[in-house]
Amino acid sequence: MEYTIATIGSHSALNILNGAKEEGFKTLLVCEKERRFYERFNIADEIIYLENLKDIGNEDLQEKLLEKNVIMIPHGSYISYLSLDFLENEFEVPIFGNKFLFRWESDRDLEREWLKNSGIRIPKIFENENIDREVIVKLHGAKGGKGYFFAKNKKDIVEKIGKRENYQIQEYIKGVAMYFHFFYSPLEKDNILMSIDRRYESNVDFLGRMPQGFEIEPSYVVVGNFPIVIRESLLEKVFDIGDKVMKYSKKIHEKGLIGPYCLETIVTDEPEIITFEISARIVAGTNPFIPYTPYSYIKYGKKMSMGRRIAVEIKNVIKEERLEDVIT
Ligand code: AMP
Repeated sequence: MEYTIATIGSHSALNILNGAKEEGFKTLLVCEKERRFYERFNIADEIIYLENLKDIGNEDLQEKLLEKNVIMIPHGSYISYLSLDFLENEFEVPIFGNKFLFRWESDRDLEREWLKNSGIRIPKIFENENIDREVIVKLHGAKGGKGYFFAKNKKDIVEKIGKRENYQIQEYIKGVAMYFHFFYSPLEKDNILMSIDRRYESNVDFLGRMPQGFEIEPSYVVVGNFPIVIRESLLEKVFDIGDKVMKYSKKIHEKGLIGPYCLETIVTDEPEIITFEISARIVAGTNPFIPYTPYSYIKYGKKMSMGRRIAVEIKNVIKEERLEDVIT
């Protein structure tokens, strides 16, 4: 049977479809009709244009995708634009990865439960206790890098966010952000560190260059990504964190993490790695690493981007007749 690798036109679609093509798959892009730039990259054998991404739920379209033996590769935009209930219960097209973990990355309380129970270091969360240090206040549902506030005590918080109730108060970790991109292969039972990035965020990355006298609240809107390699002696800790989070994911859902996921961390001057978020699918921070990453080149000795690694896994499970192990 011939399979087609497909995704939604956004986020890391170029990375995903490029990798699929490199492994000889047919490719398909489902895209909002205004986004024409993908045509310029010759990356999709077919593009289906939609009025609105939500139309992906239409029965006719789903049937068409099923007829084509499509395997969809999820990324951040699936979670932003489609509802979790829809993805879990109504979307019948096979998704590479574990879609049942998307709820756990989207809900701050569930996410914290996952990270905490994994036994790794995470920022302290303040509930009713006295706030004795700098904190970052995150409104629930805050999206796109806005909706964060900084405070030193309860009074500060009340002044900044008024009577809103839906927020989480996290200890502000002093250090630099690093985002670790892992790939878990159920076939090889291998938890692979593929790459690391740092985000380029507006306006916080401009504040150091701000003319004196200006006052601006920082926002964290991601507008690009830089590649990073970590100080080599810290790699033991990185793998330890990845292995623990991966192991606990099997307690959340029997299939656990499948394929790409990302740990979002702050690295302090101890040096210690504190994890504040997880993404249970490919992140856009893997995009600078086409055609390879320092770590993937060392491991595989050839070009291996995250998009290609996904396609390799799909190819191998098809060969072994174990596709069921990597889709939900
Ligand atoms: P997020 O949208 O949750 O990925 O966070 C946006 C930015 O806030 C990231 O670039 C982090 O550097 C920063 N950040 C989030 N949580 C913390 C924390 N607990 N301590 C320090 N910085 C944080």
